Amino acid sequence: MTLVVKVGGAVGNALDPVLDELAPRSDYVLVHGGSKEVDRLGEALGRPSEYYTSPSGVVSRRSDAAHLEVVVLALAGEVQTAIVAGLARRHRRAVGLSGVDGGLLVARRKEGARAVVDGRTVRLADDLSGTVERVDVGLLRLLLDAGVAPVVGPPAVTEEGEVVNVDADRVAARVASALGATDLVLLTNVAGLLRDPTDPGSRVDRVARADVDSILSLAQGRMRKKVLAAREALEGGVRRVVIAPSGVPGPVSAALRGGGTVFE
Ligand code: ADP
Repeated sequence: MTLVVKVGGAVGNALDPVLDELAPRSDYVLVHGGSKEVDRLGEALGRPSEYYTSPSGVVSRRSDAAHLEVVVLALAGEVQTAIVAGLARRHRRAVGLSGVDGGLLVARRKEGARAVVDGRTVRLADDLSGTVERVDVGLLRLLLDAGVAPVVGPPAVTEEGEVVNVDADRVAARVASALGATDLVLLTNVAGLLRDPTDPGSRVDRVARADVDSILSLAQGRMRKKVLAAREALEGGVRRVVIAPSGVPGPVSAALRGGGTVFE
């Protein structure tokens, strides 16, 4: 079984229980986000993150050139190094790869990123974000075969060699599909997809493939990206996707036992 685990980077995520569980294994790719570190570093550099809402209701960070520098420093630098070091402390060799390294994640730049501002739709001309179109599985397999854990995160690279920001949940979905993974676990700072985001007890336990589109209306804000990622992974051949909390003991096995929102 090849497993893809994505650990969230927003406040409230726990990394140690994830690394404790994954370090003894060698059959996974670990994908990471890092919004907390991006925010922290952006503030420290005087470049606070700005957000926009797309016409379809997806909330994204603005990715202009100045922000992309922060993303590279925070994700490909700080977060990835911390995860690789955390695995090293647990005696697992790991290699951190941004999507640019070895052409791992090839993306298409979004030409027409649009935001709703004061009720009007405007085009974001300076946007440097993209959508992953191709994953170099050969590079990942090389590492997996050598017992080295691949730790993968944004940004990605275009065919022309331009660096673009990509969403880590969608990266995880594309990596899982490309590897032929059986399971994708998206660990986050909430119990799963909630009917009422303010009520942790309102989790949706199971979503059948056929119902993913109808459940999308429940998922607003940043949860929407995870449901879109779940749909993308199922469409790409992944058998099961679980959105589950990172801050519980044994978060990966808990998720695989159904402790989250299971899409299958
Ligand atoms: P991470 O970095 O852990 O991946 P995100 O901030 O990207 O986390 O996404 C999780 C967040 O999505 C939650 O903390 C919550 O604020 C928000 N959210 C919005 N709608 C929902 C929903 N229906 N169910 C759960 N979380 C939701």
